[in-house]
Amino acid sequence: MNPYQDLLMQYGAYGCVECGKCVALCPMAETASPLSPELSPKGLVRQALNAVEAASMPALKHCLQCGSCSQTCPAKVDVAGLIKALRNEAGLEEAVCMLCGQALMPLSTLNYLNNAVGAAYEQKLVYPLLCPDCKRRAYVRNNSKSPR
Ligand code: SF4
Ligand code: SF4
Repeated sequence: MNPYQDLLMQYGAYGCVECGKCVALCPMAETASPLSPELSPKGLVRQALNAVEAASMPALKHCLQCGSCSQTCPAKVDVAGLIKALRNEAGLEEAVCMLCGQALMPLSTLNYLNNAVGAAYEQKLVYPLLCPDCKRRAYVRNNSKSPR
């Protein structure tokens, strides 16, 4: 029996039709290397369906929890939710949103981003350290015109 069966049911993974729409939007292709079919939401779903051990799922370490895959999936597979749950199962240490404290990405991914983009990135680090909801609110707040 697949050890992830309950999670696969909960997040709708059995409905995946392998259309690849989620792959086109996933930023892991930009932030992680070397690229492989497993380093994508579709690849993660396939690995989970095949009961691959969590430690051997590269997407668990590199997913940015942007939610694009779940929003675009025509089969309503919540891949971002599945990844978050599998991370918990695997006991991966998470960086948390600076504002609301919800789990954001594995610390290894944050370290990768810091190293990959360097000092220029650190000056803008506040946005990547916010969850999607807090990021949206901060963006609106920072870019809305003040009333005259
Ligand atoms: S968009 Fe949904 S159905 Fe298509 S490959 Fe991704 S998870 Fe599967
Ligand atoms: S939530 Fe993760 S897997 Fe889904 S599109 Fe964003 S980075 Fe990719």
